[in-house]
Amino acid sequence: MHEEEYSRLPGALLPWYAANRRDLPWRREPEPYRVWISEIMLQQTRVEAVLGYYARFLAALPTVKDLAEADEQQLYKLWEGLGYYSRVRNLKKAAIQIMERHGGVFPDTYEEIRALAGIGPYTAGAIASICFGLPRAAVDGNVLRIAARITGDDAPIDLQKTREGIAAGLEAVYPAGACGDFTQALMELGATVCLPRNPRCAACPAAGFCRAKAAGTQAGLPVRLPKKARREETWTVFMLVCDDRIALCRRPSEGLLAGMWQLPNVPGVLEPEAAMEAARQMGVGPDRPEWVVKRPHIFTHVRWEMTCYRIRCTVCADGFTWVTPAEMQADYGLPTAFRQFFEE
Ligand code: SF4
Repeated sequence: MHEEEYSRLPGALLPWYAANRRDLPWRREPEPYRVWISEIMLQQTRVEAVLGYYARFLAALPTVKDLAEADEQQLYKLWEGLGYYSRVRNLKKAAIQIMERHGGVFPDTYEEIRALAGIGPYTAGAIASICFGLPRAAVDGNVLRIAARITGDDAPIDLQKTREGIAAGLEAVYPAGACGDFTQALMELGATVCLPRNPRCAACPAAGFCRAKAAGTQAGLPVRLPKKARREETWTVFMLVCDDRIALCRRPSEGLLAGMWQLPNVPGVLEPEAAMEAARQMGVGPDRPEWVVKRPHIFTHVRWEMTCYRIRCTVCADGFTWVTPAEMQADYGLPTAFRQFFEE
């Protein structure tokens, strides 16, 4: 289906990409370790925000071996603020798999790449095409949007069947010898021209054969299934301060933000007196509350309404790790959900 539009894409996009590509650090050296790290960072995060993280990560952990041997605390610190921390845990897992299964050499087939922890069809397609010249598509939201628009197809892009159809349609026209450039040209078009709102059709190399442009239906494509509502949860969070140290504890090893550092918290919204009582039960000798602030934090499937009490304490009780602000800044990667309270 839609062979005609797909078949015209490489001829239109490759010269445009050669003239318009942005100079990004992972493009300068399309080496699999670097492309992999960049693609995982770029999931859910803008290019501009990734640049600093990418440079710091590569400077600290320049090889697969370094990543496989990195300790968790260092990884969380390098990832602090990027969110979706399962991504960095999977990076380490996959690095260990590369060491064990492939002797430290990045695998060069799509199937072996896809079998690594945290690598889905998109990332496997990106690495296989960009680093190894294989005709594998990297289909993310940008590419789905371009495909839906140039073909004028209103099949919901959330459906696996639609995504597989688009991947197959693209892979049938992947140009031998320029697979990596074609993948990157599609990414670049989605990021800079075929924008979700207000696509820049006048500057688009595919404008001559784009069905959505011809029909004026760009704004309505792609079609998505209605979203499920996010679950709402309420939490009371404690910033317990004792001798200018702050209490941290670990999250459970399973579930959201698994294993990460956090501020102590309990479910629900506690009134000030109940919050002081909860702090007493933690054994920290709460002296006085200094402030309370309410902040939301939104994850993909859940929204936290958080009420944070900063409480001056007299006992650095066991059961918590008490750190200075400087130590926290240097060594403890705290998820944004909790870090936001330090702006107060
Ligand atoms: S012509 Fe417009 S809608 Fe069509 S692919 Fe280009 S930017 Fe997107």
